[in-house]
Amino acid sequence: MRKIMIVGAGQSGLQLALSLQKRGYGVTVTSNRSADDVRGGKVMSSQCMFNDSLQHERDRGLNQWEAECPTVDGIAFTVPHPEIPGEKALHWGHRLDKYAQSVDQRVKIPGWMNEFQKRGGEILFKEATIADLEDWTQAYDLVIVAAGKGAIAQMFERDAERSPYDKPQRALALTYVHGMTPREEYSAVNFNLIPGVGEYFVFPALTVTGPCEIMVFEGIPGGPMDCWADVQTPTQHLARSREILNKFLPWEAKRCEKIELTDDNGILAGRFAPTVRKPVGKLPSGRTVMGMADAVLLNDPITGQGSNNAAKFANAVEEAIVAHGEQSFDAAFINGTFEKFWNAYASFATQWTNAMLSPPPPHVLQVLGAACGNEQVARRIANGFNNPTDFAHFFMTPDKVEQYLAEVAPA
Ligand SMILES: Cc1cc2nc3c(=O)[nH]c(=O)nc-3n(C[C@H](O)[C@H](O)[C@H](O)COP(=O)(O)OP(=O)(O)OC[C@H]3O[C@@H](n4cnc5c(N)ncnc54)[C@H](O)[C@@H]3O)c2cc1C
Repeated sequence: MRKIMIVGAGQSGLQLALSLQKRGYGVTVTSNRSADDVRGGKVMSSQCMFNDSLQHERDRGLNQWEAECPTVDGIAFTVPHPEIPGEKALHWGHRLDKYAQSVDQRVKIPGWMNEFQKRGGEILFKEATIADLEDWTQAYDLVIVAAGKGAIAQMFERDAERSPYDKPQRALALTYVHGMTPREEYSAVNFNLIPGVGEYFVFPALTVTGPCEIMVFEGIPGGPMDCWADVQTPTQHLARSREILNKFLPWEAKRCEKIELTDDNGILAGRFAPTVRKPVGKLPSGRTVMGMADAVLLNDPITGQGSNNAAKFANAVEEAIVAHGEQSFDAAFINGTFEKFWNAYASFATQWTNAMLSPPPPHVLQVLGAACGNEQVARRIANGFNNPTDFAHFFMTPDKVEQYLAEVAPA
């Protein structure tokens, strides 16, 4: 039986652990937090996952919250008018072909930990160190570091060519609430882009206290939505969330007249630099470990792709491990697995996400504008959130946009 150590009990680590466990591998997980720590701790993400990622969970029987979690049925996009307060300069919405869902990681992670242990899996509760990795590379066939933004991920070298930014591009904040007026017609990620200020998006989810809405703020550093440093209490955090909407997005503020926090831990503020790293981690002894998901592929949440990338990355690693049979999990295996995933998928998600952090160039404004009057365009953009590889074909470059808009013009 091949033995695998997975460091980090998050979206990717536990999905892979549960999958390999089912296939008969000897899997151990190391987590620096217990299930109770996670359940009783602060929110970590807005974790909206689209159909292809949800399907990975369904295929593995890991969708135990699917029936109770509200569905996110569409994507809507709005730019407020720069001169007329309360008016929209651009607005469209479209249903997703298949729904998205967001299960608070405070619900999902303890549930998956429990499932893994129930099936006989062992979780070591400790902060993994480099010395631990050294020991585990001798006791296991493969050691995978899926520690997300944890400090240990810094052992993986930053890939400067694939990381256009070396500083945080947004001041991030999350506010989990009950009592928001539902969006009319169908539920959606309501995405608002306020030029020069940042983005606000909101959608339904399932949290520790039941169905809720998650408000996500992406403030341009130094701008008016980068405004969380003086916030000290959950009440102040909620008040600041309302202030932003009152000032910039009155149609969103209107939905929030009766909101209250889901719980005192339903808030988060922070920032990080989006970073792609090399997937082979070299230990002082020369032995190697493999980086997975956020540990080596950390994107800004602006496009809501991180958990999706994590689910797809874990799937790619699972397939590669199985296909590799009894061969050694050496640096060539690690690099090969990452490059295959990067070329087929992750590069598209990353480049689109990084592009959305810059002020939109004319061709992007053109295609976003075209979606206002053309359902076909709106549908394609909305469903790109499920499979961002499609953006390369009609969204990312001026020539592709021109070609696409010429094709759909008659419609
Ligand atoms: C504000 C915000 C909003 C987001 N919104 C979305 C969204 O809408 N949609 C989406 O798809 N993604 C979103 N994401 C991103 C998404 O949450 C992450 O990309 C995803 O959780 C990454 O999964 P992972 O398995 O790589 O790491 P994680 O889920 O972060 O798990 C890593 C785990 O490793 C543990 N760990 C760290 N160091 C150690 C150590 N030394 N030893 C042991 N354990 C360790 C951590 O405690 C953690 O439990 C958002 C992120 C943020 C910050």
